[in-house]
Amino acid sequence: MTQEPPREVTHILVLIGTRPEAIKMFPVVHALKRSDWFEPVVVTTGQHPDLVKPILELAGIEPDLDLGVGHPGLTLNELVGRVIERLDGFCRERFGATGAAVATRTAIRDDGFPGGTFVHGDTSSAVAAALASFHLKIPVGHVEAGLRTGTTLTPFPEELNRQLISRIAAFHLAPTTTNRQNLVREGVPDEQIFVTGNTGIDALRFAAAQDVPFDDPAVTAAVAAENYVVVTAHRRENWNGGLARIAEAIGLLADSRPDTRFVIPLHPNPLVRAELGEPLANRANVVRSEPLTYAQFARLMANAAVILTDSGGIQEEAPALGVPVLVARESTERGEGVVAGTLKLVGTDPAAIVDEVGNVLADPGEHRVDPEDNPYGDGHAAERIAAAGAYLAGIGPPPVRFGPAFSRKVVLEAAGYDFGEFDESLPRGAQPDRSEEHDAWVGR
Ligand code: UDP
Repeated sequence: MTQEPPREVTHILVLIGTRPEAIKMFPVVHALKRSDWFEPVVVTTGQHPDLVKPILELAGIEPDLDLGVGHPGLTLNELVGRVIERLDGFCRERFGATGAAVATRTAIRDDGFPGGTFVHGDTSSAVAAALASFHLKIPVGHVEAGLRTGTTLTPFPEELNRQLISRIAAFHLAPTTTNRQNLVREGVPDEQIFVTGNTGIDALRFAAAQDVPFDDPAVTAAVAAENYVVVTAHRRENWNGGLARIAEAIGLLADSRPDTRFVIPLHPNPLVRAELGEPLANRANVVRSEPLTYAQFARLMANAAVILTDSGGIQEEAPALGVPVLVARESTERGEGVVAGTLKLVGTDPAAIVDEVGNVLADPGEHRVDPEDNPYGDGHAAERIAAAGAYLAGIGPPPVRFGPAFSRKVVLEAAGYDFGEFDESLPRGAQPDRSEEHDAWVGR
């Protein structure tokens, strides 16, 4: 049981369904708790209890309510129906919410009526919670708003879910300026959007600092070594020879650098194990491990000299820990990271990989990334969200948004340029201006 909060502390409902939602929402719960202004009421759906529980335990969060919607085999309609009905029942019972009238300031401050519901991203449970809240006249804040593929059926049902939540939400917390632009294009008033960075980066930095032990002793030994490189690859575009070429490059590097360890958490896919894992068997300085837990992988990344990967998420995560990323793909949808200099596209040609990894290993200190350059987040997104909430409630100053006030990518695209072509012509190693004069100019 949570204690009754003191009066004048605003309740905020926070909905958590899946594992990625747990990861990206726990920093929001932490920030709301830290703020002194809010008392988060954490509601889990109970869809994937085994996956969500360890994350909430890592974060030290005890949910206030589990909706117990049932096993993952539920149909989407069953899931949506159950979340709406059960969240509605909870809000009626606990807060006396009926949907009859808009909540007043007095009801929020004195009677504990929720000041809002935060939902995350693009799941069907998030849509359901948003709609249930709307029906009860509890305003909705959408965390990780504005991601779009533009095709309603891809990914299904997430793309439509995002769009539906954008119609329901009163307040849109967009990770990047590009996400904000997507919303503006759809007619969401700019004044209802706040750019925060991605809360996933906050989560990662928290997890990386937890010092959880590794299950695999070989990983423990590698992390204790002076220099190690992390390699992950599994994407379909690398199935046709790419994985084998990456393995060839790592083999050459491992032979020429006996003092450097190469840690490869292997994706469970048998093809990945055959093409990337098997050629690297029986080498003293290559550690082929099972996939690591979230917290262990965060810790592994944090101390690596460099990460060679074809993963999407890791391109956003590693630079937030100061680690440079070499992208073993021919192209990346994370163009903002390439421009910022936190990522480098190296493809899968073994000679190019050997060259680029060798280059970093020659002077790892020189190649550390400034986490502030990471365009996907700086680890303070959740604080900004809590501060924005306090401002909305009339109890805090206007919060400072994340990132630049305009996106070069968006401006150039609007002007008809092809961002990819522009990208090629950027000077190598171009970095944002970090001089004191510049900081003073932008008011940092
Ligand atoms: N990850 C993990 N353990 C591992 C490898 C990766 O927890 O052993 C995490 C990683 O931090 C990232 C997520 O898994 O957040 C997704 O990585 P994946 O390689 O599957 O790529 P994506 O789906 O993002 O392309």
